[in-house]
Amino acid sequence: MAKDKKLVQSLNCNGCGICVTVCPTNIKLSKAEDFDVDKAKLAIFVTNGEAVIDSNTCIVCGICTRNCPVGSLAIVPI
Ligand code: SF4
Ligand code: SF4
Repeated sequence: MAKDKKLVQSLNCNGCGICVTVCPTNIKLSKAEDFDVDKAKLAIFVTNGEAVIDSNTCIVCGICTRNCPVGSLAIVPI
């Protein structure tokens, strides 16, 4: 099913990583027996102190947007 909205990240991000840990897609991936944090296609991860979204994996559930302490994440229409 085509997505009509997407997750975006602003410049407010402080790289805390909370979004990475609350993301249900990431949690599901991390339960795989062969889970490798460097190889897994996480929906959101922190690189160089900033959250990066993988739109192919993100299911746009919005949980991360409600847990980001600085309001850096938002869901917008495509
Ligand atoms: S987007 Fe928000 S929760 Fe995620 S790393 Fe940045 S500040 Fe933390
Ligand atoms: S919107 Fe949902 S699936 Fe996408 S990164 Fe945030 S918590 Fe994960």
